Amino acid sequence: MLALDHLGVADQVSAIAPAQSACNFATSAGRTIGTWPVGQFVQRYGQPTVAIGRSDLHGILRDAVSAPVVTGAEVTGYTEHDEGVSLHFADGTSEDGDLLIGADGVRSAVRAQLLGPQPPDYTGYIAWRGHAELSPEEFPPGTFQALFGPGTRFTYYDIAPGVVHWMSVADGPAGGRDEGTPEQTLDMLRARHAGWADPMVRRILDATVPESILRGDVLDRKPDPVWGRGRVTLLGDAAHAMSFNIGQGACQAIEDGLVLAGHLVSGAGVPGPCAPTRPNAGSAPARCRCWRTASACSAPCRTRPPSGCATGSWP
Ligand SMILES: Cc1cc2nc3c(=O)[nH]c(=O)nc-3n(C[C@H](O)[C@H](O)[C@H](O)COP(=O)(O)OP(=O)(O)OC[C@H]3O[C@@H](n4cnc5c(N)ncnc54)[C@H](O)[C@@H]3O)c2cc1C
Repeated sequence: MLALDHLGVADQVSAIAPAQSACNFATSAGRTIGTWPVGQFVQRYGQPTVAIGRSDLHGILRDAVSAPVVTGAEVTGYTEHDEGVSLHFADGTSEDGDLLIGADGVRSAVRAQLLGPQPPDYTGYIAWRGHAELSPEEFPPGTFQALFGPGTRFTYYDIAPGVVHWMSVADGPAGGRDEGTPEQTLDMLRARHAGWADPMVRRILDATVPESILRGDVLDRKPDPVWGRGRVTLLGDAAHAMSFNIGQGACQAIEDGLVLAGHLVSGAGVPGPCAPTRPNAGSAPARCRCWRTASACSAPCRTRPPSGCATGSWP
């Protein structure tokens, strides 16, 4: 939200996205594991903790930019030359630019050409996601609940007035798919979470449109020592894909965009290689970008930023 405020769109986001009061963690049997009082963050940081749907956020950002946004154009590769970069598309066309920022997700085509074709790592678990429509009387706005059972979990929170996003996670092999109808998938999830102490789990699943359910393997990558070379760099999951466990992948992509934009506006060009495991290696902007995400990508968290990299400030 601090980054979105810097872009001048925090008010539009707040108008849709419910501010969370606390993140609650409990077992499927109903024992409280802990509570994170995120509602207090607004006093500490000046902005609330919110959850918002991807399409709502995309709409707000699209309306805020003056440049045209082209969709449905599949990138297949690029050619770097002295004057710039040519980007090649699946329909055989190309576009030229001064530099290239590959923000094309965890299976990035730009990354594959820049760093090699290594696939992302499978975490060992699968996420089923969906939306339920529940009125504010049925679902208190700003609720966040994460429930943990043996080999599975269920998380829910609202992302717009009356819209509850949920996620059912279970261990399993990669590459699977649900056979049968969406209604059968929903029945499978009801059975998986049957008997859980929190009655909201069943209420949410019953209020879910079966066709809204998405299944996906949860992927991440180990932190990379290089994100960019020459006129090409990466951003977001293409550079630093992380699992959803700390709810930071999209947040880090947005912050990364601001740090990179600040560097480009300064006229310094695309930051070169970074070294997330060596806090003071590389150029200052490259250090900042890497430090901001390295602790989220890897288990051991670094507690102090490298020199010249203050949390919450944008170059
Ligand atoms: C189950 C789950 C829950 C999550 N929960 C959270 C959360 O609570 N908070 C949070 O901050 N993050 C969360 N994340 C992570 C978040 O979704 C990602 O980190 C974020 O979407 C990364 O943004 P991105 O723009 O880098 O990539 P993406 O959002 O993946 O966007 C990449 C874009 O590039 C396009 N693209 C891909 N290949 C090509 C190509 N060859 N040519 C042209 N375009 C292409 C794609 O269509 C897509 O539009 C979650 C992720 C998962 C899977």
